[in-house]
Amino acid sequence: MTTSGRIRRTGVLVVGASVSGLNTVEALRRSGFRDRITVVGDEPHLPYDRPPLSKQILSGAWRPERTLLRAPRVLADLNIDLLLGHRALSLDPSTRTVLTTSGPITADAVVIATGATPRALPVPDGTSGVHVLRTLDDSLALRDEFAANPRVVVVGEGVLGAEISATARQSGLDVTMTGPLHAPMAAQLGDLVATQLADLHTRHGVALRLGVGVQRILGENGRVSGVRLENSQILPASVVVVAIGAIPATDWLTDSGLSLDRGVVCDATCRAADGIYAVGDVARWPGNDVNSTVRLENRTHAAEQAAVVAANILGAEDVYRPIPYFWTDQYEVKIQVHGTITPDARATVVDGDPAQGRFLVRYEREGVPTAVLGWNMPKQARMQRRILVDAQSAPGPALTSAHSS
Ligand SMILES: Cc1cc2nc3c(=O)[nH]c(=O)nc-3n(C[C@H](O)[C@H](O)[C@H](O)COP(=O)(O)OP(=O)(O)OC[C@H]3O[C@@H](n4cnc5c(N)ncnc54)[C@H](O)[C@@H]3O)c2cc1C
Repeated sequence: MTTSGRIRRTGVLVVGASVSGLNTVEALRRSGFRDRITVVGDEPHLPYDRPPLSKQILSGAWRPERTLLRAPRVLADLNIDLLLGHRALSLDPSTRTVLTTSGPITADAVVIATGATPRALPVPDGTSGVHVLRTLDDSLALRDEFAANPRVVVVGEGVLGAEISATARQSGLDVTMTGPLHAPMAAQLGDLVATQLADLHTRHGVALRLGVGVQRILGENGRVSGVRLENSQILPASVVVVAIGAIPATDWLTDSGLSLDRGVVCDATCRAADGIYAVGDVARWPGNDVNSTVRLENRTHAAEQAAVVAANILGAEDVYRPIPYFWTDQYEVKIQVHGTITPDARATVVDGDPAQGRFLVRYEREGVPTAVLGWNMPKQARMQRRILVDAQSAPGPALTSAHSS
């Protein structure tokens, strides 16, 4: 394994040294691929996992080393050229050449695994104390800020905003969560469960200022001082976290001629062009409904799609049809979702009881099960997954046809 140097030719070039890139490499090696593999990643760290960044790293419960996806020895055994701290600048699909900050690299196959970058809000010039959370460095910087600044406003009521609010509150901070929807994660979980989540946050002492957008971030003497909402209310803050979604990292592909539409557009086999594949948060591929496309941002998808991409690089023509899965941990609650929850889905509690803090929800669209959610019921949720597999193989509304970003 090398961490620097100029490489001109490789068998497979993976751009993005994170979970989807690393899983692609491992699947290739497991399948007996012996040729050279090069991985280019713009972060300085060995590949690490992001879910703990809004939980155990932000709270200080874990040291950063614990997020490593693989031990250095395991990485070394993969026998890859790992170019960390180097950025891909452009791609020429006709020759499969990627210009990187360590020089041009030509490959038999290129894997685009560059993930996504956080959306930002305008901040008054020279104002400190406004953060986003995507990288390990982001999480460590925010943790330091939390230690010195007890009044937090989290802008964004999605999964990341809800997790950050929970972690900040458990660290004893004064937390306000704000966003345009009426309840945390209403877009991802639907009303029934989002209402439970709103109660959970309220019980733990988070102030919810929801159902209203942010007008602007305010600063005073070079430091953030609050957030003004569209209804003119001002939420005072000594630190603001902006968690309003992420944009697929395709900036380096603008002149490539690849089809870019809120992600790298692929066919059902995850191929974006001859010998070029996309995987993980950056990839968009056809959904099961005609004319729909899907892009998923979750940890399990990144690993599952990587297996399909590796197989297809080696000559398979496997179609990627996942049953999406994601989880979130907030306070004492683990929520797990198998399938896709659409706004028009009918939600029914089929086991447990929300009042007891353990329940299972089944979602249906046009009578077809589309998702199962477990609230502190992991085993039961996993067992119900079978009905989604059966529904996926039957004709009718599909599990990954909607809820794409
Ligand atoms: C804070 C946080 C918490 C999360 N929690 C959960 C959770 O609880 N459950 C869950 O299911 N999912 C969770 N996720 C989502 C999950 O982590 C992502 O879906 C997953 O990381 C996607 O992996 P990826 O490899 O596609 O992209 P990424 O992990 O984003 O990796 C892409 C890599 O490519 C690099 N890169 C970008 N552009 C270039 C370039 N031009 N050249 C070189 N390198 C480049 C990036 O710096 C990055 O290192 C969380 C995400 C975050 C940010």
